[in-house]
Amino acid sequence: MATTRAATFSAKIRTLTDFHTRISCNQQPPSNAEIITTLRYFQQTLIGFLKDVPSNNSTLFEKFVADSQRTSQYPNLNYSGLFYGIVNLLDVFPIITSGQTAIAEAILDTLKALYFFLDRECVDQLPYLLASQLGTFPAELDKKIVQLLCDCILPYSTSDDAFGGLSVPVVLMLVLQHPSDPGLHSWLLESLMSRRENVYHDLLSVIAKGTSEARISAVNLLFHYWPLINPQILHRKPIQYRVHGWSPVPCQNTMCTEKGPSIKRSYDPVACAKYGDTSPPMSICKGCFDQIETDQPLYFICQPMPASHSVVCQNKGCEASNRIAVGTCFAEDCIRAHQHVPLRLCQECFTHLHANPGAEAHRRHSGMTCVWNTILERDMIEAVVKLLKETSASLEGIEGEGKRPKWLRQLEGGQSLGRDIDSMSDERRMLSRYGIWLMAALCPPAPEAPSHAIGYIMSMLFQWFSTTALLPNDSMGAALEQLKTDFASDWMNLAISNHYEVFVTILMPDLPEYAQVGGAWDKFSSKKDQMKDGLSKMLALMPYDVISFETWNRVIPKWLRAISDDIEDEDLPELKILLCKIFEPDLCPLPFETNKVYEFISSRLLKGNYEETLDALDWLHLLCRMDITMSLNMVFDMFIECLKRLPDLNFPIKNEENDLEEDPGPLAVQVVM
Ligand SMILES: [Zn+2]
Ligand SMILES: [Zn+2]
Ligand SMILES: [Zn+2]
Ligand SMILES: [Zn+2]
Repeated sequence: MATTRAATFSAKIRTLTDFHTRISCNQQPPSNAEIITTLRYFQQTLIGFLKDVPSNNSTLFEKFVADSQRTSQYPNLNYSGLFYGIVNLLDVFPIITSGQTAIAEAILDTLKALYFFLDRECVDQLPYLLASQLGTFPAELDKKIVQLLCDCILPYSTSDDAFGGLSVPVVLMLVLQHPSDPGLHSWLLESLMSRRENVYHDLLSVIAKGTSEARISAVNLLFHYWPLINPQILHRKPIQYRVHGWSPVPCQNTMCTEKGPSIKRSYDPVACAKYGDTSPPMSICKGCFDQIETDQPLYFICQPMPASHSVVCQNKGCEASNRIAVGTCFAEDCIRAHQHVPLRLCQECFTHLHANPGAEAHRRHSGMTCVWNTILERDMIEAVVKLLKETSASLEGIEGEGKRPKWLRQLEGGQSLGRDIDSMSDERRMLSRYGIWLMAALCPPAPEAPSHAIGYIMSMLFQWFSTTALLPNDSMGAALEQLKTDFASDWMNLAISNHYEVFVTILMPDLPEYAQVGGAWDKFSSKKDQMKDGLSKMLALMPYDVISFETWNRVIPKWLRAISDDIEDEDLPELKILLCKIFEPDLCPLPFETNKVYEFISSRLLKGNYEETLDALDWLHLLCRMDITMSLNMVFDMFIECLKRLPDLNFPIKNEENDLEEDPGPLAVQVVM
């Protein structure tokens, strides 16, 4: 009998494997009924085996344990063969032309029946395999996929013996970038939070490394579950993305008539097979749980948290003076009296309720105050930079679009159309506000902050100042401008006073590698483009009075030298506009007198050695060629003083072969009036 069973099982796996070939080569492709019958066979067989697993082994279904303990519970068959048969079927799934929903549903049911029989290698692949079906399977199955992940596969594969935990960030990203139903996002997140530490870090890594779509959901959820305690941030207006509550799955007891929302979960394999025709776990509603015959414990399911923002402590006995919620507890003991909804707690209750040894292990989450020297540092910095980039990137995109000739844009109509209907474009454009808030609240530019990190953020921040400087004064432009005065300026001023040398470095034409971020650095760009970006950054900062005389005097000579050394004559006009704005005496927003603006030239002419004098004349020449207006009196005064010193300057011995025409030197200075 056993051999027959094994033989049938193997034969069916061959059938399944053949489906792959028959579908991909389109040779006698199997009918939908054929595929579904085969999958149902596996499902029934596997659930049949589960009926013989003793009930008291129910904990084996909660978390993966190394093989020996589990494999003795069922016949030894080629389960990994079945697993890879399904993987192959998933491979050709997109080319199945009709009845996709029923097949997809059968695949999900079979995977749920199968997970318990798989070895670690297969179990580790399950979370990613499932999550990557979002967008491939028909949309009506999105909920079922997320349910299988949340209730079964993620908890099971995240054990000491399996590595499912490693796929959490990528699973999060796949779910969060799938826009169908934001309720699925909060479902997955709360499910993870109820079982796992450091979900904050998981979300942060999605913001730092994920796609733009995933970043939108992730950052909104981050601020929802870990609010930053600042009135302007707490009471922010949503743009497009809204956090949605989720609803618990309906009762899975096949005999249940109400199909009410489930409140408990059973892992008893016999009860699950008997009442739910499924492998554990099975979720049960209020009306059913006392009718289920099982000697195994039923677990309460954490109920959905409200999607509205609750920022006040939810502990009934709270007597704290500051009742702003700072953390959330998911443990049964804490949430029992709260209809099993996770509890938001103020600092006092959060500490107080967990001060006894029994409560230390409560699964709970709270935000952070400062990121430096924590495990989150790297991802936080990257998250801030990526969020700032989102706004810059989408604005630069528009700018680029405008410059293209109209006929070209019309020709490319198909492509730009796709961008126009980007349903989250406003949200993307406003993502930088989250970056600014995270930066201001959690990355304070204190003296002990790592200077490279400050420099990296600063460089991107300046790029953000530069791309947002020219926004129209609509609501979005006004909101971003407000961020500068409310948050960014303070941060910048503190960063400048605590990390002054970094600040000066960031303003220089030759950026160190850590500061090469955003704008031209994210594209294939020429030296000229990089310089244009640098000058634009400086120009954008000028209205904020952060460029002092000292800074100017150090930075601007480096710029003029770099321009005269590295920029071809025909490229000068492009830089000219920016330089003119920077030097423009009427608009000049530099917080010091005009004669100080040119002090870097006059000091060299008056006191410099031969090389410095030559530099000064060279820069003067460059400024003239750029049509930068300066007072003739000032220039004459400088010249007169310089001429008086001429006899004292040590001229180097001239090499006769030096071609004077190539190196016009001081002879060629011309003043344009
Ligand atoms: Zn979908
Ligand atoms: Zn029920
Ligand atoms: Zn409280
Ligand atoms: Zn607790």
